Amino acid sequence: MIEQKRMSTTSLEALFQRYKTAGWWILAPRAEGDITTFGEVDSPGDVAAGLIQTTLSPKSAVLPIWEELFRFRRGESGIEVVEAAESSVPTIIFGLRPCDARAFAALDAVFTWDSQDEPYLARRNKVAFVSIACNQADDYCFCTSTGGGPGDTAGSDLLLTGVGDEYLVEVVTERGVELAGIAGELFGPAEGMDKAAHLASVPVRFDLDRLRQVLPKTFDREELWIDQSLRCLGCGACAYVCPTCVCFDIQDEATRHGGARVRCWDSCGFSLFTLHTSGHNPREVQSHRWRQRVMHKFAYMPERLQVLGCVGCGRCSRACPVDMNLAEHLAVIAESGE
Ligand code: SF4
Ligand code: SF4
Repeated sequence: MIEQKRMSTTSLEALFQRYKTAGWWILAPRAEGDITTFGEVDSPGDVAAGLIQTTLSPKSAVLPIWEELFRFRRGESGIEVVEAAESSVPTIIFGLRPCDARAFAALDAVFTWDSQDEPYLARRNKVAFVSIACNQADDYCFCTSTGGGPGDTAGSDLLLTGVGDEYLVEVVTERGVELAGIAGELFGPAEGMDKAAHLASVPVRFDLDRLRQVLPKTFDREELWIDQSLRCLGCGACAYVCPTCVCFDIQDEATRHGGARVRCWDSCGFSLFTLHTSGHNPREVQSHRWRQRVMHKFAYMPERLQVLGCVGCGRCSRACPVDMNLAEHLAVIAESGE
């Protein structure tokens, strides 16, 4: 049962200070040059305002773009391994959108599937989500086509919806109860607040059930995948901005005395991603890589992990330098079969 409260928008400053005093680190949308990303903030004044969506997602709070897994060195008795010190701190991600909050379920499913990814879980278990519902959307948003919505509470601990000069605060989880309790005097009863009237309108852009029915049968339809991917440069921008993409590479960076094993983001859109040492590449053309991206998110992940690999945030299409529009492509696929 989700409890509802109200809070004045002018109380945000006090809310931030309470959280910081309680030992939470706060990440929120910040402008960095010509992009927006999630960075540390001290007060609501530091938060980038008026955004539909940040350029980069908050994924890096739990899956950094680059991380050291451990260091190694040549010692007197052979190679010695030094585990990376656990350095994550309790972190509130503030101001993420409902699609981004929902995206963490896809990450969790992957990183707890066939093994428990300890570096991921060490960070993930210390993260809480204070999301803000969407009162505006653009033509790239398609959360409603992937099971979400501009006021969806799934994945958030607290969800704030702007209602005039107040927020409707929904306390969604046990952690949300804890977060609301830290600043209990800032909240009042929510009677008479109409959430629905303050949410963006996001049209459904394709029939998800139909897509999932048709998609597995399209694997060998080369002309469909060539047609969809002709423009794709394989630049990987779509994967790097995506809140649910999980491809990573592991490499050793070493000198003759030692080094570090590092994990960094990768993309199935890169031509080198599946290149074998023999020179053989099982996905040697871009159409096969685009097919993999779509299949992975909308067929393989739901089948294996019971979670969709896309939340309809639209970032990939906004970021694409050649205007590939994922929602439009999915609509074409959904309508292309019986
Ligand atoms: S951002 Fe666009 S061009 Fe770059 S890999 Fe993705 S779909 Fe292809
Ligand atoms: S695939 Fe595109 S729309 Fe879907 S979650 Fe990733 S960035 Fe967002």
